Amino acid sequence: MFYLLNILIQMKILLDKCSLFESLRPFNDLGFVPTMGGIHKGHLSLINKSNRLCKITIVSIFINPKQFNNKKDLKSYPRNIDKDLKILKKTKKVDFVYLPRFEDIYENKKKSKIKINKNDTILCAKYRKGHFEGVLDVMERLTKIVNPKKIFMGEKDFQQLYLVKKRLEKKYKAKIIPCKTIRNKNNVALSSRNSLLNKLNLRVAASIYKKLVNIKKNIKKYKNISKFLNNQKVKLKNNYKIKIDYLELRNKKNLKVSNKTNNSRLFIAYYLNNVRLIDNI
Ligand code: AMP
Repeated sequence: MFYLLNILIQMKILLDKCSLFESLRPFNDLGFVPTMGGIHKGHLSLINKSNRLCKITIVSIFINPKQFNNKKDLKSYPRNIDKDLKILKKTKKVDFVYLPRFEDIYENKKKSKIKINKNDTILCAKYRKGHFEGVLDVMERLTKIVNPKKIFMGEKDFQQLYLVKKRLEKKYKAKIIPCKTIRNKNNVALSSRNSLLNKLNLRVAASIYKKLVNIKKNIKKYKNISKFLNNQKVKLKNNYKIKIDYLELRNKKNLKVSNKTNNSRLFIAYYLNNVRLIDNI
């Protein structure tokens, strides 16, 4: 019966909470893939994993204004819902797409009390004030609405994954499932924001990725890692004429500054063509 239902259901679009509650009621093995649209192969890898591990997959597309600390960034964020829906439908792996309006999510106007603690005010939390407060707030609201068993999130946004896991798994039944970063053929991490880059920018991003790999390889040779990374940061800045928010080696379990490459990731955030890109390797 269940499989029959599943076959009959194509890809249902849900425009508000009420229709979502109604449609999802029969299902409890739900995999949830929250996105802001601009669907690319990174998102599709999350969907594939959800499809493998859960009976039903629901994708949300919601550009959450509350997580943008910069109005221009929100305005220029890529939006193409028709194209997104076509891509999602073609996968045949998405059962539901939730496309809420702002009011559907923020109907309960209670101001969020979420505060990122001091130890976590690092990397993007340090450079994008209010960003993760907005992310955690919307993720909590979406989780309450969708009530999934598993939430699939990308390691490309490693700090987001870390903070969401820490907060949500304490309060809700949902398990956060990390998914590997998907890259283009030149190893640039896929991102919706890449559509705002030109060919030259993408070549620069590919070259920066290569440099990061080299930097990580060479870290072992240096005693004073933070000094080495600071020097490398200056070099990257000067060579590529880019603004860099951070270049830091951190432990992947607790995000503390690390002085060894084992269990660590090298984190970077930089601007190309006024587009802020992040990566970690
Ligand atoms: P976004 O639409 O950018 O908010 O991303 C939605 C989800 O897709 C987040 O969990 C991201 O971490 C994940 N994601 C974005 N880009 C990639 C990528 N290149 N590889 C894997 N996951 C990604």
